[in-house]
Amino acid sequence: MNNKKIIHRIDKLCCAPIEVFVFHAVSDCFDERENKRVDWLQTTDFERRILSLKERYHFISLDEAYHRLRRQWLRRRRYAVLTCDDGYASVLGVLPFLEKERVPVTLFINPKYLDGVSKRDGYAEMPHYITCEQLWRLDSRLVTVGMHGYGHDDATRQSAGEFEESVDKCMEILRSHPRYIPYFAYTWGRYNDTTQRLLKEKGIVAVFADGESNYRFRLGIGRKLL
Ligand SMILES: [Zn+2]
Repeated sequence: MNNKKIIHRIDKLCCAPIEVFVFHAVSDCFDERENKRVDWLQTTDFERRILSLKERYHFISLDEAYHRLRRQWLRRRRYAVLTCDDGYASVLGVLPFLEKERVPVTLFINPKYLDGVSKRDGYAEMPHYITCEQLWRLDSRLVTVGMHGYGHDDATRQSAGEFEESVDKCMEILRSHPRYIPYFAYTWGRYNDTTQRLLKEKGIVAVFADGESNYRFRLGIGRKLL
């Protein structure tokens, strides 16, 4: 067994995992013009899942999870984190529920679509995205705003320069948001050594979509689908 595997085993013995979940669109009825099945949850199903997780985990913010992963040697309490990718407007509808349940959430946004006009590639119809005005109206202490690329582009298909430009534009637009945090969720969870190096240089925390539990912070934060 190599050193990395041994360290990982020790971490698993010493620490309860911090589970980070990601969801996308949530609404009462599925609309094929707006949503893709894999990215959609029915509102009552979403609420049921959150309430069920609350019975087993203590929800904390992504930022708190990051600091616990970096600093805590022993961790017995079970923590969970909720994140939401793509910035669909339908998500605004579940924020009052999350507020009532005291569940923090991080919204990973593609600033390109905040104008309410720009289309995402591959979508025949235009899904409704959160607009700039709606995003800046969110001032709950339970909501934080992170980056998901300027547009919804695959970082591994971009040149280093294109990826850096995308990150810089994200930061330029989002960092004036009072709830901005320097976290970057890779679109479709795709990344490589170059993207990781660039994020590190800019002091940004990488967030994956790898289905992994988190025991310690290493390359970034793993996530599971809600
Ligand atoms: Zn996405």
